[in-house]
Formats: sequence, C-alpha cells, structure tokens
Amino acid sequence: MDSNVSRRGFLKAAGAITASAYAAKSIPAWATPPDKGSVAVVPPLATFPYSDVQLLDGPMKRQFEENHTRFLNLDDDRLLKVFRQVAGLPSPGEDMGGWYDLTGFSLVRNDFHGFIAGHSFGQYLSALARAYAVTGSEPTRAKVNRLVKGYAETLDPAAKFFVDYRLPAYTYDKLSCGLIDAHEFAHDPMAMDVHERLTRAIVAYLPEKALSRQEQRSRPHKDTSYTWDETYTLPENLFLAYQRSGDSFYREMAKKYLEDDTYFGPLSQGNNVLPFEHAYSHVNAFSSAMQAYITLGSEKHLRAAKNGFEMLLTTQSFATGGWGPDEAFGEPARGQLGDSLALTHASFETPCGAYGHFKITRYLLRVTKDAKYGDSMERVLYNTILGAWPIQADGTSFYYSDYATTGKKVWYGQKWPCCSGTFPQLAADYHISTYLRAADGVYVNLFTPSRVQWNDGSGRYGLTQETRYPFDSKIEIKVSASRASEYTLYVRIPAWATPDPVLSVNGKRVSDPVQPGTFAAVRRTWNEGDRVELELPMPLRLEPVDANHPNLVALLHGPVVLFAVADSQPSFDRKALLTAKPANNAAADWLATSAGESTVTMRPFMNIDKENYSTYVLLKS
Ligand SMILES: [Zn+2]
Repeated sequence: MDSNVSRRGFLKAAGAITASAYAAKSIPAWATPPDKGSVAVVPPLATFPYSDVQLLDGPMKRQFEENHTRFLNLDDDRLLKVFRQVAGLPSPGEDMGGWYDLTGFSLVRNDFHGFIAGHSFGQYLSALARAYAVTGSEPTRAKVNRLVKGYAETLDPAAKFFVDYRLPAYTYDKLSCGLIDAHEFAHDPMAMDVHERLTRAIVAYLPEKALSRQEQRSRPHKDTSYTWDETYTLPENLFLAYQRSGDSFYREMAKKYLEDDTYFGPLSQGNNVLPFEHAYSHVNAFSSAMQAYITLGSEKHLRAAKNGFEMLLTTQSFATGGWGPDEAFGEPARGQLGDSLALTHASFETPCGAYGHFKITRYLLRVTKDAKYGDSMERVLYNTILGAWPIQADGTSFYYSDYATTGKKVWYGQKWPCCSGTFPQLAADYHISTYLRAADGVYVNLFTPSRVQWNDGSGRYGLTQETRYPFDSKIEIKVSASRASEYTLYVRIPAWATPDPVLSVNGKRVSDPVQPGTFAAVRRTWNEGDRVELELPMPLRLEPVDANHPNLVALLHGPVVLFAVADSQPSFDRKALLTAKPANNAAADWLATSAGESTVTMRPFMNIDKENYSTYVLLKS
C-alpha cells in the first residue's frame, strides 16, 4: 500500500491541522488554504471558493445559468449510454448524436457522428460539480452522484472502453477532471476511488511519454487520427489529483507526461516552438507547466508557461484576444493572421480557447500578480466567449468565431463537440476569475456585477460591484463588514485606461498615482458602507491585425472590439474611425463614417446575432 494513503486519510480527518499549517505560512485566518496536499509553491494569490462569489444580473450570470440548466436537464441515460454499451450493460435512452456516439458516419442522418464516444462526459460532470459549488443546488449534487455511480458501474479493471479508441489521453483527461471535481466540489464519496481505478487502467493505452503530433505521425497505428491525441495536456489534472488525494502515483505519472523535450524545454529557453502546433491543446498545456511549477517547484516550467503565453500574445493573437486560425499557430512575422482573414472562417475555437485562456491567465496572475494577465482575460471574455450562442438542447453548439473579411456567427456542424464541454466549465469559472485573495487583501480582477463574501474568525466581510462595464466607464464597489477590518483592496487598472483613471474612496480621490497596467492598492480600515469608485478613461484606438498588414485594423473602445456591421469589408479614414460616436442604443453600438461617406454601425461581438460583420476594416490613410 502506498504510504500516502494513510497520510491522505489523516489530512481528510484533520482539516483544522491543514488550516493551521497554512496559517503558519502567514496567510491570515480569513484566507482558507489555496491548495491541499503537497505543493512546493503557494502562489501569492489564491482563488476564492466558488461558493464565496455570486454573479449578479448580467451576461456572465446568464451564461452560467444557461449552461447549468442545460446540463442539469440532460438525461443521465443518454450521457451514460456509450459506456454501458461497451460494458454490455442495458443501455436505455436515446443516442446523444454528434461526436458522442459509438458508431461512425450515419448515411441515414448524413451526419458524421461517433467521432470520440463519450469524450465530453467528464467535462459535463466537472461543470456540474463546479455549478454545485457555486449554487449549493441539491439536484445538481444528486446528479453528480448518479453520474459518478453510473460511470463506475461501466468501468472494468482493464478499462476496455479504450480498446481501439482513437484518442485515449484526450478523453481520459476529461474524465479525470470530472472525477476529481466531483470529489473536490460536490464531495462525491466514490469519485476519487473511481478516478484511481480508471487511471491505473488507462496507463496500458498511453504511450510512454507525451508525444508531439510529429512524433505520433512517425508511429504506425491502424487509425491515422490517433496522431491527434493530446498526451501533453494530462499533467495538469494529474497534479491536481495528487494535491487532492496525496497519492504520489499521480504526481509521478504527471511528471512522465510533461512535454519537456519538444515544447516546455525550448519554450523555457525562449525558443518559439508554437508554429504549426494545434492551438487550443498547446495553450491548455501551459496549465500543465504551471502545475509542474506549483507542485514540483520547477522554475523551468514557470518560464515555459510565461514565455509561451507571451509568444501567444505577441505573435498569435487577434485584437479580440482570440488566436489560432484553423486551430493552428503560424510562423511569426509572416503576416499569417492578416492572411487568415481571406482564407478561413474558423478563426478562433471559442469556448475551448477561452477556457484554456482563462486557466492560464488565472495561474499566471496568481503567481506573478501582474495585471496584464487580467487585461488579457477580459479581452477574451468580452470579445469572444460572451458572444458565443448558448448550447442547444440537442447539442448544437457554437464553436468557431469568424474574423474573415466578411464574417458571421454560425452553429458548428456536429452536435456535442469539444466546445460543448469547455463552455459550462468556463461559465462556472467566471466565479473564481473575478476576485482573488492575497495574504494582505483582495484583488478585484474582472469588473462585473457580482459579490464576494468571506469570513475571518471575527466577522463576515464582502464586496459588491455594481457596473455596466464595459459599456460604462464607472465601477462602484460597496464594502460590507460586520466589524471594521484592515486590509488592502487591489483594483486592476487596465493598461489601455489612459490618461487618467480616477479611483475614489467615499467620494475622495485616492492620492497615490493610479497607474494603468497595474493593480491600484488601497490599504485602510474598511467599514460597512464604504464605497469605492473607479472611473476608467476608455479611448478609442486602432490595432492592426499584424505588422505585415498595417492597414487592416480593429477599432477598440476600452476592452471591447467594435465590429463593423456590413455585408462587405468597409474602408475608413483613420480619423473617421477614431471619432466614431456612441449610438446610445441597447446594442451598445458606435457609428462611424466610412470613406464612401456612409454611416457604418460598429457593434460589440456580444451583441451581434445573425448579421454579417467585419472584425478588421480597411484603413485608407
Ligand atoms: Zn472546442
């Protein structure tokens, strides 16, 4: 028996001892432990528990609730059907359809289904567990328990579900996430044991190390699409499984799948090895590097994640914050982003990309306290995922954002794709991305109607944000405190908020300079009813798509890209764009005069529906 098993039992039984161990690391009593189990590094910022944050009326809350309701109401039998079919158990319920089924192309339905059976089950489970942590919804907890139990009944010691399976690592990684989240957030009694059985069995289906696509192509396999498997994303959840169980089996397995030779090693040395890699899974892999840093203390992996993310921002990103046209990274300085506008409508894999982007920016923000990661997160939030259409009852999903010369929103052709798994996970993660906690106070990272509440030994405290941001420049934060409490309130000041952001407490302007691109810090004794106000200047500005296409520009207002509503790409004089005027309508439109003297509506992605648009417009001068 693993010596960690007894330690695990001890830790579970002795929550108070764990908490005091963290208190010794000078985190105040009101901050609960950031991570359980053994970590080498406790990042200076931690997420609040999901249950401490409430989203108030606004688009983020709407997306969270839509996703929660959708998956709470998705029939258990349908979700479990493919696992039961392979196990030879009675398998009632309708086929899910799309990517989720066992069988392949259907002539009857003319639909390519059965791509990777059950691939997103773990993500739906994870999303429900996180939604339970947010809401405390008893039906949600009960559903998590039923799904874990139902899945466990189909799992044999050899996990024969994965015999001849196209992408074993891809689907195992999501099952792993779902099971550890069911344990962590819904306190499911079986999930960690099921996770261990599954993980010990899956080893037989995995290669000996993380394989790049090039390495996979060189290995004979009867199914050529095997070359897409994503072994390099496994370590993040394996390290989390280690932290949540104390079982070193997971830590050692995680180390084995760190893609050091072809990815993290070169990235850590500043070599840009992003070009031609699959976009989402390689951004997702940055989170595995961050867990290697947190769990093992590996500075090399922190450097790899930081460098890789910087390369993503500077060489692969559109003005929206999205990246990876046709799901691939291109060669820097060749104008590939600008070229892509004429070549593809599959510009950014939106729910998956945004989910991976939120995770890596949250990790990097927690470790570095650098506001630029919050800036990057909100750019992706407002210009990509908040404009995604909600998942439909039959699994029809929004997948790609379209930045083509003339683009429009479309549904993805197959039901229940990858993006139907990451969307509900991300919407739950809005809660843990909005505020972060430090030893000396609270960080306000996203500006959105919301409330965070926490206890310390002596009282209950909270912050409530009221704002229409990003469609209004004012953010108001109200303090609640059952008794006076001294701490520092850190407020993100976006780098674009020039020249003169104004931060006030109880109507009095803060005297310290408020620097764009940093977290402004206000340390004082806070009392019930204290009021913090932030007013951010939101200049209109232009961003070219890349250096090779200086005349293809996006118009931005604060964090929001304004898309030209038009059936063909309009052109403008620079000055005409920069003097666009708000239309003061419900769609938060702006109006700009084109080079042909017509008035063009400029609309945020969130408010675009079926109309044609141009993300980038042509600059005449
Ligand atoms: Zn996807």
